[in-house]
Amino acid sequence: GELKQDDLVNIYELGQGNGGVVYKVRHKPTDKIMARKIIYLEVKPAMKNQIIRELKVLHQCNSPYIVGFYGAFAVEAQISICMEYMDGGSLDLILKKVMRIPEHILGKITVAVLRGLSYLRERHRIMHRDIKPSNILVNFQGEIKLCDFGVSAQLIDSTLHTFIGTRSYMSPERLEGAHYGIMSDIWSLGLSLVEMAVGRYPIPPPSTQDIDNLIKEDPLGNRPRPEGFGCYKGLAIFELMEWIVNEAPPSLPRSHFSSEFCDFVDRCLKKSTSERADLNTLLHHPFYKRYEAESDNQEVSSWIRQACGCDLDMNNENNNRRSGNST
Ligand code: ATP
Ligand code: MG
Repeated sequence: GELKQDDLVNIYELGQGNGGVVYKVRHKPTDKIMARKIIYLEVKPAMKNQIIRELKVLHQCNSPYIVGFYGAFAVEAQISICMEYMDGGSLDLILKKVMRIPEHILGKITVAVLRGLSYLRERHRIMHRDIKPSNILVNFQGEIKLCDFGVSAQLIDSTLHTFIGTRSYMSPERLEGAHYGIMSDIWSLGLSLVEMAVGRYPIPPPSTQDIDNLIKEDPLGNRPRPEGFGCYKGLAIFELMEWIVNEAPPSLPRSHFSSEFCDFVDRCLKKSTSERADLNTLLHHPFYKRYEAESDNQEVSSWIRQACGCDLDMNNENNNRRSGNST
């Protein structure tokens, strides 16, 4: 049957973004645990209905690299999107717990993101529009999935004017207001990979000294971040956008990563779309090739458990509670 508000019980808040808030909920009739994203939108009822209609396409999005969809509905000024609950959370939260994400895990993440993007393009003729660490979700089974992609044109239009935040993963062409397409997602992937590899949003780029300090601290990249780690004085959003458009793109320090990985992100982070690698090229890149074959999720699974500070026989409920006491 259709999902409705009265059937959902809040368990706790999973996080908040610029557009709304996400709760872990239980669907009473089926006892299923879901993630419910609530977006506040002051728009005419006809427009809300159109958004709900357009979101129904999500029922057809079935891929191991795309977060599952249960349904969407509107109540007053709220649009609710109910999706698969991912117990490992998003990569931005994981990154806050560990210093950096090791290259071999980023390899697996790259494979999942590229496959998710190919699926959206081949099967649904859409681009993602919002690739960034907070929209890449993981679970304790080691699955890596994309969420929050632009399926509803009306929802994209209606949220166009929401505050952009303090960081941007948008490509130079998109920031300049030019026509943009799937190549823009490739830029966002490159930028996200550099951030997760180095452990800091990479614009403006850290100095060589900064990088050495960031990376020398913990070669395994699995120690919890000290309080305040990475809280450098960031640029204001306008300066940041100017930097992305006008300055050299970020890159990985060659001294700390494989040449295939460095080359992969360099190809994603070309400012000009004619030089940037497209999806098909990346699907043949040696960095992708190195990780595409292994089909078991065990390695990612144990890394995520470790990153979240969980034992193998942990109780998800307790370990995943963000404000809970650690034992
Ligand atoms: P922004 O609004 O700038 O895009 P965001 O992606 O962090 O930022 P939301 O999409 O509202 O904002 O998500 C808020 C948080 O909720 C995410 O950072 C993520 O940690 C968590 N979250 C979202 N969807 C799920 C899900 N399906 N399972 C588990 N956690 C989720
Ligand atoms: Mg999101």
